[in-house]
Amino acid sequence: MSVTERTLLGPGPSNPYPEATLGLAAPILGHLDPEFVAMLERTCERLRSLWGTRNPLTLPLSGTGSLGMEAAFTNTVRAGDQVVVAVNGLFGERMCEVAGRYGAHVVRVDHDWGQPVDVQRVLDAHPAPALVAAVHAETSTGVVSDIGALGRALRERSEDTLLLADCVTSLGGTPMALDEWRVDIAYSGTQKCLGVAPGLAPFTFSERAWEHRVQSPPVWYLDLGLLGAYVRGGPGGRTYHHTAPTSMVASLDAALARIEQEGMEEVAARHEAAGARLREGLREMGLELFAAEGHHLAQLTSVRVPDGVDSGKVRDRLLREYGLEIGAGVGPYAASVWRIGLMGHNARLDRAELVLAALRRVLER
Ligand SMILES: *Cc1c(COP(=O)(O)O)cnc(C)c1O
Repeated sequence: MSVTERTLLGPGPSNPYPEATLGLAAPILGHLDPEFVAMLERTCERLRSLWGTRNPLTLPLSGTGSLGMEAAFTNTVRAGDQVVVAVNGLFGERMCEVAGRYGAHVVRVDHDWGQPVDVQRVLDAHPAPALVAAVHAETSTGVVSDIGALGRALRERSEDTLLLADCVTSLGGTPMALDEWRVDIAYSGTQKCLGVAPGLAPFTFSERAWEHRVQSPPVWYLDLGLLGAYVRGGPGGRTYHHTAPTSMVASLDAALARIEQEGMEEVAARHEAAGARLREGLREMGLELFAAEGHHLAQLTSVRVPDGVDSGKVRDRLLREYGLEIGAGVGPYAASVWRIGLMGHNARLDRAELVLAALRRVLER
């Protein structure tokens, strides 16, 4: 067996929290084992706490972040529904694509990449949509948006519009208060700031969303009416729906325990400090940051590739010579932007210094 020791990955840590790795390595529990069932319940409770919600329907779905996105739309969108999507990067684009497949009439609110979501423009896009969707932390551009401002503004206008937030790169890196922000539906992924292997999509659905839900969504696997019983169980107890990926849940539970122990405020401060140091060091090197000033995401820094520098060659050298993986840009910015993730266990000052030192060497700056 070969063991590589990569320290950084563009859009997510390749070395998760050590606790999460131990969780994966523990003896495998059966999905009906009472010990596992108790663990799943605990994981759901830990997710509620991290997300700042009391939603009973909060659980890790068996799939990656995109599955969370799929579950969000398949359970809320009916053919012909007016759905406003704020698009300020790749994942907003993906939401338009998914919503469209469920028959939504998608009203796109396009932003320049690198800009945060403009609340007023989203409000102005449609007077009474069934759903508004936005990405909290756009991993494709390194921008964080004010989901709380959007949620409160929407709720002031109407009780009938649901708000969906993609929290894949914010959960576990940025403090969250979904109930206060009036977010109805949110999903995340384990491999970003939660510092776990890819494979689960933490998911939460408000009582309001439950009232508005699609009764029999076209995707059986993601029908929340069935999945609710899978975690909580009715009077007859928890019912089988599909086999839970038990080791992944154990790993997520261990990572959430670690975040709890460290304290979410401390964890967020650690992400902030690492991101701030990285931005400062990149500027000292004469590099130009990509995200709009004041809206930088701590856990993912986007920076422009200097003129005349081959983006791929630099990434390749960082990987081969230093064991550091940084991300390329996305879409139109594939060759002109780098994305450097400092998430979960990697959100540390020493990692920021390491990537800066290696980049300085490779760029000879
Ligand atoms: C990574 C990511 C996704 C997709 O998650 P997968 O785990 O790759 O399916 C969705 N939204 C955002 C903001 C992401 O960063």
